[in-house]
Amino acid sequence: MSVSTRRAALGSFACLACAGILPGRRATAAESTVPKTSLTPDQALARLLEGNSRFVADNPMAPAIGSGRRHELAGGQGPYAAVIGCADSRTPPETLFGAGLGEVFTARVAGNTMTPSALASLAYSVQVLGAPLLMVLGHERCGAVAAAVEFVTKGTRLPDPMMAMVDPIVPAVRAAQRKGGDLLDQSVQENARLVARNLREHAAFRALVPSRLRVVAARYDLDDGQVTVLEG
Ligand SMILES: [Zn+2]
Repeated sequence: MSVSTRRAALGSFACLACAGILPGRRATAAESTVPKTSLTPDQALARLLEGNSRFVADNPMAPAIGSGRRHELAGGQGPYAAVIGCADSRTPPETLFGAGLGEVFTARVAGNTMTPSALASLAYSVQVLGAPLLMVLGHERCGAVAAAVEFVTKGTRLPDPMMAMVDPIVPAVRAAQRKGGDLLDQSVQENARLVARNLREHAAFRALVPSRLRVVAARYDLDDGQVTVLEG
């Protein structure tokens, strides 16, 4: 993002805050009173995975969601990770990672694909808020990916407007067909990998990788609760 584009983005967010559309109280989003995270990309990933290990063990961390933390964050945020995950009700990133308020910036869309708004949101989390980690989080038995498998293998189409959720996943299904194995689960994994690769190579991020930013693809297992890093 160029300096002028970045200024324009900051300006538009500031105006939304002034207009009361974004919560900001006295500080605008561009004038955060909360420092950016000091965690490195590797430390940020380790923190997410530690929280997930405790979730798996039914020993979750007590996330900071009380009024004290809420007041600390009223003037800004400095999340240490951004997650693009599926909208599936069984996969809320904050819960899977035991994260409290202000820790994880999330964008969720069925099939965890990159819509223009999701891409803009992730760029904001990295370039403005300073997040050092992007995670693309697919999950076992994803309905959006299953719909893409049905479309590729049988030509079955979901009614409009739902195909917009399915179409971006089709290249991942075709790649999974070439790999063999369980087509649905391979497609889930390929989809997360492809989205992560596209992010890594995007102009908004590529100059930051790997020193300032890490982009990982991961898979969440519905049965055992484990998040496994696939790539990155
Ligand atoms: Zn899903």
